[in-house]
Amino acid sequence: MKSYRAELWFNTKKRKELVNITPQVAEAIRKSGIKEGLCLVNAMHITASVFINDNESGLHQDFEEWLEKLAPYGKAYKHHQTGEDNGDAHLKRTIMGREVVVAITEGRLDFGPWEQIFYGEFDGQRRKRVLVKIIGE
Ligand code: ZN
Repeated sequence: MKSYRAELWFNTKKRKELVNITPQVAEAIRKSGIKEGLCLVNAMHITASVFINDNESGLHQDFEEWLEKLAPYGKAYKHHQTGEDNGDAHLKRTIMGREVVVAITEGRLDFGPWEQIFYGEFDGQRRKRVLVKIIGE
């Protein structure tokens, strides 16, 4: 069995952003040389997510509005008693998830229809990273 590890780095312009990282993950699979296996992609920060959904801008706005209703920015979260100001980002991250696992078949991401991988940033404007770990043959 082979294994391959890569880090993807982000520094978003806005505090909140959704970034399609499918091309970077596909590139990591290509570099790994693995044709049959599994690919794990996870955010390495507790205020950012990795999730799979449709690459459709209306849906992305729906996500942002829905998350803002569930965990509004600027509310007096108990977490802020530690001196932090990102309670909303921790909650948004938990709802949207930490990681995805995608099968690799014949050297490609074995997606269902319209599936794409996204990095969800909820407390950005600083350097943060995503781990890509690939195992297989
Ligand atoms: Zn925090």
